Amino acid sequence: MLIFAVETSCDETACAVGSRLKILSNVVYSQAVHSKWGGVVPHLAKKEHEIKLPSLINLTMKKLHRVINDSDFDNITAFAVTYGPGLAPALETGIRYVKSLAYEYNKPIVPVNHLEGHIYSVFVQNSKGRPEVQFDFPYLCLIISGGHTQLSVFNNHLSHRIIGKTLDDAAGEALDKAGKLLGLGYPAGAVIERLAESVENQDVFKFPRTMVKHKTLDFSFSGLKTSFYYFIKEQNEQFVYKNVAKLASSFQQAVFDSVLLKLELAIKQTGIKNLIVSGGVSANKHLRAMIRSLAKKHGVNVLFPHFKYLYGDNAAMIAVAGYFRYTNGFFITPDEFDTLDRMPRLNLEDKFLWKVKK
Ligand code: ADP
Ligand code: MG
Repeated sequence: MLIFAVETSCDETACAVGSRLKILSNVVYSQAVHSKWGGVVPHLAKKEHEIKLPSLINLTMKKLHRVINDSDFDNITAFAVTYGPGLAPALETGIRYVKSLAYEYNKPIVPVNHLEGHIYSVFVQNSKGRPEVQFDFPYLCLIISGGHTQLSVFNNHLSHRIIGKTLDDAAGEALDKAGKLLGLGYPAGAVIERLAESVENQDVFKFPRTMVKHKTLDFSFSGLKTSFYYFIKEQNEQFVYKNVAKLASSFQQAVFDSVLLKLELAIKQTGIKNLIVSGGVSANKHLRAMIRSLAKKHGVNVLFPHFKYLYGDNAAMIAVAGYFRYTNGFFITPDEFDTLDRMPRLNLEDKFLWKVKK
């Protein structure tokens, strides 16, 4: 059983080949063109995906050959592709390439939800099948990335219920916007992490924690962002320059405290003892330490992705989510390919649009 997966939902062009939970070959290209624009430019993302995909697909098969002595598309069981959520022009590119490959080799396509991919990313194993993985449903899930900040319950394979989400910006987006105000470039999350570490994660400026009084599990970062904006605007340049690390650290702490507040509420409300945390922002060591100690306090077992490359966007998680979709009949055959289109606003709870194969 081999799944060839392609992910092009945003600014990473990625391919992988998986066998159940094992990743046999994996390639990720992070597009650098966007940094000078201070955010992802959709038509540039599409162009980059178009330029890079053919060579990445070849490279993925070459790497597969090194691991299992096989580089023949005829031996691929199915192709998996992210069809949403994400940027329409970016998603389109991956879908188009996968359709043409799958037509050529007469293989099924597994349309995969990017967010479900992030959840399965904590179960991804290396080519030797490590680490060992056991499923112990239900899981409480926190996806925290540049485009999403949401809490959900993962009841069983392919079964999700959203219990909280951001009402405005995602946590990573808030960090990126604060980074822009501080002149840190794009994306800023990792730079903010390093600056914060340089001042031992001090919270000097105590920016507001958001949604504190609301008993819902929804997040909001726009109030925090606005208060940070006005604070910076009122200071002279010299002050900002001198205090950039403390400003970054204080902003980061306000974002993470706001996230932890809702995470703790979700742990209490659901009583679920297994927690999954994934997405780009969870690469942050300070955030992971905060989550680990919260989990310990409540006797909760927490899972993060085991390998660094799994935090950001990648196709390995799409291959693993694709494996569970495929084995449960969630795939389409070549006669149905015309009905597969990108769904930029796809939701974690959205049902599979096609007839499930028995
Ligand atoms: P998306 O799929 O929504 O585009 P990703 O999963 O690729 O997001 O994550 C990208 C986001 O993660 C960006 O907002 C980036 O600033 C943030 N990020 C990356 N590394 C870190 C880090 N070490 N600390 C905090 N945020 C980070
Ligand atoms: Mg992502």
